[in-house]
Amino acid sequence: SEIRYDRDNVFAKILRGEIPCDKVYEDDHVLAFRDIAPQAPVHVLVIPKGPYISLADFSTIASPDEIAEFFAAVGKIASDLGLDDPGYRILANHGSDGGQEVPHFHVHIFGGKKLGAMLP
Ligand code: 5GP
Repeated sequence: SEIRYDRDNVFAKILRGEIPCDKVYEDDHVLAFRDIAPQAPVHVLVIPKGPYISLADFSTIASPDEIAEFFAAVGKIASDLGLDDPGYRILANHGSDGGQEVPHFHVHIFGGKKLGAMLP
């Protein structure tokens, strides 16, 4: 929620332009940029611009239109990066057990190589 959201998290700073990013897509509600420590040849982070900590917040606070447009943007970004064929992976970490480091909801897009099996 707005109250728990940490306005000093790194993605909030990127959204405010206080730290730079390698932008690949932006619209009124969505920003996508390359991960600073890529784990695949293509590693892009897609974030909604609103103050959502996790998917739990985004999926319950954002409007149905905003949610639909966000996931449509994820697909379009992957497609525009040329990843549809041979494919890619999307991932969202939640909380400490899920390995979430940045408390602003984000979807990872991984591609550009044959990815390994996703095991815990
Ligand atoms: P999480 O573990 O929260 O799902 O993923 C956070 C991701 O954000 C990590 O892959 C990390 O490399 C990336 N990241 C952290 N700080 C920055 C930054 O300042 N700029 C960019 N572009 N990515 C960052």
